[in-house]
Amino acid sequence: MTGGFARTIQTYLRPERLPTIWCQGCGNGIVIGALIRALAGSGVRREDVVVVSGIGCSGRASGYLNLPGFQPTHGRALPFATGVKIANPSLMVVAIMGDGDCLSIGGNHFLHAARRNLDITALVLNNSNYGMTGGQYAPTTPKGGLTTTTPYGNAERAVDIPALAQVAGATYVARSTSYHALELSGYIKRALVHRGFSVVEALCHCPTQYGKMNRLGSPVNMLKLQRDLAVSQARAASMPAGELAGRIITGEMVKPEGQGEEDYTTAYARVIKRAMEQARPVEETHECIPSLSGGYDPPLGKPTLLRVG
Ligand code: SF4
Repeated sequence: MTGGFARTIQTYLRPERLPTIWCQGCGNGIVIGALIRALAGSGVRREDVVVVSGIGCSGRASGYLNLPGFQPTHGRALPFATGVKIANPSLMVVAIMGDGDCLSIGGNHFLHAARRNLDITALVLNNSNYGMTGGQYAPTTPKGGLTTTTPYGNAERAVDIPALAQVAGATYVARSTSYHALELSGYIKRALVHRGFSVVEALCHCPTQYGKMNRLGSPVNMLKLQRDLAVSQARAASMPAGELAGRIITGEMVKPEGQGEEDYTTAYARVIKRAMEQARPVEETHECIPSLSGGYDPPLGKPTLLRVG
């Protein structure tokens, strides 16, 4: 680590919350390091960034980062991030989620955040299982993968996060791994400055649970495995389908062209403006107000109300 980056890391972390609870050799630290590098490179002031994290190992990130942050309930990082963004569209909002948190418990929120093209960056740390709660299988567990709840092999296909994000309407989508930390950081930075819903999947090794169950060896071995399995989109395009089985396709799957799609808060601001322009004062009202005792109080004089339409 260079002196400059070490200082940057220190600025973005809360020393009083360290050390982290993460296991030795876990990929989470590498991914959060890539996020810090991207945030520092984005030129956005720390006070203008809000991080919202989910539940699970990666969910602890909002507590370690020296940024305004929240950790709502399981699967609800995106709804909470939506509220933050709509309340103050000038903020840069980052939702940090694990794969189970984002795609299983929070799967519906993921679809709708993408559909709305909310200007939020979703950073999904995919470790292929529920690490914190005991290594259960997740929607991202590879077919055949061993977990504590699929000890004879997972019979389901894994969710392809970039493909799902793309069809749901995300306007920037990329995937990399904890081995490719600098590439990952570059994708995160582009996602942060992109205006619209951006998704970066970070394949993130979990040596304690998924690695152990599948005999993938030490954390270093798991990183080497990512290096060996990764294949760029361009190379994958020329490979036969059979050779792609089990490979990790990396790259930017969706990139904005030209001005790109309008983001949600811009569209919503226009609706608010139109509503305010068309609102007209109501001269007089004779509506009765329900009282706490169950009856109706008499009309309250002439309140000035705004009526739309
Ligand atoms: S259980 Fe897995 S994901 Fe969680 S901290 Fe340990 S190594 Fe990391």
